[in-house]
Amino acid sequence: MKHNFNAGPSILPQEVLEKAAQAILDFNGSGLSLLSISHRTKEFEAVMDEAKALFRELLEIPDNYQIYFVGGGASTQFFHVPYNFLGTKAAYVNTGVWTKKAIKEAKLFGEVEVIASGEESNFSAIPKGYTIPTDCDYLYTCMNNTIYGTESHTDIDSPIPHICDMSSDILSHPVDVSKYAVIYGGAQKNLAPAGVTFVIIRDDMLEKVVRNVPSMVNPKNHIENNSMFNTPPVFPIYVLMETLRWMKGLGGMKEMYRRNCEKAELLYAEIDRNKLFRGTAAVEDRSRMNICWVMEPEYEALAGEFMEFAKSKGMVGIKGHRLVGGFRASCYNALSLESVKALVECMQEFEKLHA
Ligand SMILES: *Cc1c(COP(=O)(O)O)cnc(C)c1O
Repeated sequence: MKHNFNAGPSILPQEVLEKAAQAILDFNGSGLSLLSISHRTKEFEAVMDEAKALFRELLEIPDNYQIYFVGGGASTQFFHVPYNFLGTKAAYVNTGVWTKKAIKEAKLFGEVEVIASGEESNFSAIPKGYTIPTDCDYLYTCMNNTIYGTESHTDIDSPIPHICDMSSDILSHPVDVSKYAVIYGGAQKNLAPAGVTFVIIRDDMLEKVVRNVPSMVNPKNHIENNSMFNTPPVFPIYVLMETLRWMKGLGGMKEMYRRNCEKAELLYAEIDRNKLFRGTAAVEDRSRMNICWVMEPEYEALAGEFMEFAKSKGMVGIKGHRLVGGFRASCYNALSLESVKALVECMQEFEKLHA
């Protein structure tokens, strides 16, 4: 039995994979593959509409927000955001690699004020207590920092439009969408295979595009064409819809959140208890999605052996990102409590062998 802790692309529910496999062979009993029909059929339009409706329902997206799906990954949004909205100056909070990349792109379009940064502590904590300047076009943050295992646990009150990258925590916990102007992310961490990006945008932002942008960059074109301005990534959108159906069937966001809290508490409790290991993220900023830890310094020499031991017990994808080292267990929605229990047992067995 494999326990899939991959950071992204990552685990998807087994029943969703089975439905996706079936749809590739015979979509809705049509005798045709989902991959071989026009996106402009009423059958695919139904998929698109249901994906959007379920997203709205599960995340409780208010009526004055639109949602669309587009290709290019979160990294394409790094430049779509400033291209559309950075007129003179934007405020960025730097919480690691993904915000650094977004800052680099924003600088192509205007002035960037980095109003807070976690760089000094190698991004092991979320900066707090900063002032959001009111003379900026928008505030930009990343909610969950996949590489460092830090997560902001508040929906910030911002006096200027708040644009947030939620690639790796979308639909893992409740969000007060009304506090954001734009929420976006790549879907491949928690919802779908790679290839589709979701964008949730407040209506008034559609009138705030500051320059003439190419058609594919302007959110209006995607919204007015029901995410079919060009050929959408049909397969990832189909899988995303099935994942949202799966979530809803289990009790929706509330149940996902309950499960994610339970899994994260169990694993962090073991990291804190076990003599061999320690967590790397500031306790109050610990991510529920990406849980990072390292060997205690006196046991550092055992790191490679623990990795091999974990592998022999079926753990997959627990090597930490090279910027943090150690270990990372990504515990997305589809990861079962049983997999976390298996990892905890593996850590306990390893401790018995060595401590
Ligand atoms: C993975 C990730 C990205 C990059 O996503 P792509 O779809 O590969 O461009 C951006 N932000 C966060 C928080 C991520 O975890």
